[in-house]
Amino acid sequence: MKFKLSKKVFAHIDCDSFFVACEVFRNPSLATKHVCVGRDVTIAASYSAKAKWVKVWVPFWQAKKILWNSFVALDPDMKLYGQLSKKFMWFLRMHTQNVEVFSIDEAFVELTWIPESLDMNLEEYVVYLQKKILQEIWIPVSFWVSTTRLRAKIFSKVHKPYGYFIGMDNQSVYDQFQEMPVSDIPFVWFWYQQRLAPHIKTIYDFSRESMFYFKRLIGKNATWLWFELNGVNSLSFASHWDKKSLVKTRSFNHEMSSDPRFIWSKLLLNVERLFEEMALAEFEIRHIRLYLKTKEKERFGISHYFEDYTCDRKEIYSALQILFKKLYKPWVVYRSTWVGSHDLQKYTPKQLSIFSKANEKHETNKKLEKIFLDIHKKYGNESIHVGI
Ligand SMILES: [Mg+2]
Repeated sequence: MKFKLSKKVFAHIDCDSFFVACEVFRNPSLATKHVCVGRDVTIAASYSAKAKWVKVWVPFWQAKKILWNSFVALDPDMKLYGQLSKKFMWFLRMHTQNVEVFSIDEAFVELTWIPESLDMNLEEYVVYLQKKILQEIWIPVSFWVSTTRLRAKIFSKVHKPYGYFIGMDNQSVYDQFQEMPVSDIPFVWFWYQQRLAPHIKTIYDFSRESMFYFKRLIGKNATWLWFELNGVNSLSFASHWDKKSLVKTRSFNHEMSSDPRFIWSKLLLNVERLFEEMALAEFEIRHIRLYLKTKEKERFGISHYFEDYTCDRKEIYSALQILFKKLYKPWVVYRSTWVGSHDLQKYTPKQLSIFSKANEKHETNKKLEKIFLDIHKKYGNESIHVGI
């Protein structure tokens, strides 16, 4: 088989502990504290907290037990995170080519052309961009660079935080792949891994097998996975922000369960991803639907319609709590959750009235965040702090 290897340069860029970095941007005195963002459970933790094994989905009561007095718990502020994310994406659009937003704090970019005036090689340019993002947006980021987007994404398992990795020649890429398990390939889900032949343990083993073997096993997605792994640029994560619906789903894999706390915690992860996407794209929704799939693969769903379009976290969260209580049956074993909305629109400010407290708060917060950003930009990050 003949194919043309990619000569393009792609980078996967990910902000380090993004939610925590945003909180530190707003209040620099948090930089030395063990910060956890979430509500009852941790959805983002500072690297100092992670070093003490307080990671995503550790409940706050447990985190408090581990971190004692230095523990700082903060409610997620998706509007601030959305604003800083926009600044970050805008920076990437100004300094790189073909930016593809992957999540609120991750993007793929092309780095094939480096401005001639800078007179830098690839590594120097990566370090230059990393420093510039920290200086201008106050967010530390990590870079992984390779010949395809998938290769770059895979390397994001290494050299973090505030690190970079450049794997441009095939030899160094395959050397690294020999050290990495198949489970590090994104999109090769747990149930595919279960079906792989026993000798396929590393990403290198996967990339050296015949493409047709994987096609039989995984289906049509195998083709681009295999090509991308072998250095052939064949994938685009093209912007998915102009969607007509938002859907987040999560399978429990081998942990099928009837435990309501376990199922709710898995569902919360979907909900957080939903909020992230809503904040980044400035979406609001009028409808929310929840599905629970049973062990026998039966799907049960229930919906809630809001009075008006909303992006209010509390309102959506409470609606989901009620839906979950109605749908959940203690005698059923569940295998996955699904949450989504097909009725969405771009956020539009509504007329203020004494009845629209939530909206008023949204507008006030937005104005306040803008003032903060401007003051920090002009007088430095130490100039003004939020009292907590
Ligand atoms: Mg990140």
